[in-house]
Amino acid sequence: MEQKFWLADAHCDTATVLTPWRLAFGGNTQLDFQRLAGRGKLQFMAFFMGAQAEKLSKTEVWRKLRQHWLDLRYAAALCGDVELLEDLRQAGGSTKTQIVPALEGLDWLGGDWRAVDELYAWGFRSFGLFWNDDSFLGCGAAANRTPEADTGLSAAGRELVAHLAGLGRLVDLAHASDNSFWQAADLLAAEGRPLFVSHACCRALCEHPRNLTDEQLRAVGQSGGLVGITLVPQFLSADGAATPADFARHAAHAAALAGVESVCLGSDFDGTAELPLGVEGVQDAAALYDSLLAEGFAEAEARLIMGENLANFLRKY
Ligand SMILES: [Zn+2]
Repeated sequence: MEQKFWLADAHCDTATVLTPWRLAFGGNTQLDFQRLAGRGKLQFMAFFMGAQAEKLSKTEVWRKLRQHWLDLRYAAALCGDVELLEDLRQAGGSTKTQIVPALEGLDWLGGDWRAVDELYAWGFRSFGLFWNDDSFLGCGAAANRTPEADTGLSAAGRELVAHLAGLGRLVDLAHASDNSFWQAADLLAAEGRPLFVSHACCRALCEHPRNLTDEQLRAVGQSGGLVGITLVPQFLSADGAATPADFARHAAHAAALAGVESVCLGSDFDGTAELPLGVEGVQDAAALYDSLLAEGFAEAEARLIMGENLANFLRKY
């Protein structure tokens, strides 16, 4: 079946949960390389360490990370139809699906934040500061914090953002608290870097600390940045029951405030147990495209959101 758009997705957790063999040849998850081939042009694959890092020694954390990295490369080699993207300027410029290796949360680095240079040398190309918890880097988007308790980035967090921005690394502000977002935004602006939020929705449509306020959406647009609208039902709809139309509604709100070229897909496949009704995985991406048309986007705009914006953003970053 011919696809009316090509797909680029700023976030999924599939590589964290699948073995290399299943990642390459098909698993019972929401995405794998077999289902991406022919559909996906560009797919961020995040590695998420989560709370397990607290229970592991530093050596064990690094061993686990190394294993993950080798697994991802092995899966890509097994599949053959995908390749890891090393040079962001080549985004969208391959006949194969390009995988962007990403890190979701750097809290497990402890005080050793300069190790991000090592991780870049391995091949990780996107650096997400937080998961939801607070860490030595500062405040994440925890659901149960009062605004007064949001102290933003720590001194180490500020140093890390300035370091990454100075080297031109992609900094992902998904999961940052409001104050962490704004402090990081200032540091990124000082280096002339656009704001990138790989997976979030709009707080004006669904009150949740993981979603962006209108002010934040405007700042993303003004910086020439990008927000990936995510498929997590709890972020799309207050009652937690979402449809593709909700995805389109959030995309339209974000586009109205940030500009249509600042909106993309940030699915969170395999990072969420639930998905909008009728979407079971990457194979159903056409339902998202159709929902954008039904929301009133022109075909060219829907193609931007479903894929082209993300590739354009990475090429310029
Ligand atoms: Zn996430």
